[in-house]
Amino acid sequence: MRQALLKTPCPFPTCPNPSCSGKTLVRNGVRTCKRYPPAQRWKCTTCLRSFLDTPSAHPASNAEEQALVIRLHNEGLSLRGIARSLNRSLNFVQMVIKKSQSR
Ligand SMILES: [Zn+2]
Repeated sequence: MRQALLKTPCPFPTCPNPSCSGKTLVRNGVRTCKRYPPAQRWKCTTCLRSFLDTPSAHPASNAEEQALVIRLHNEGLSLRGIARSLNRSLNFVQMVIKKSQSR
């Protein structure tokens, strides 16, 4: 699997970091853990940040999605129901609601 990863071309034309426009990315090890398949890590030589070549399994939520969670919660939908309908984890739903209540 590592050998197969060594042959993959760099998926980024430039650095994915929005505040950097570095063009040189070098290999920076392979992520190996039980939960996810192995993935090549890349490192920008300009800003020194590293990136996975596969997108995150848990993309960052946006304000629109968080507002939808709060609206569904105020309608009386169960937390598990919200998590199922938005295809997010129960922990995510609880975190958003807890954050909205502390404000
Ligand atoms: Zn960079």
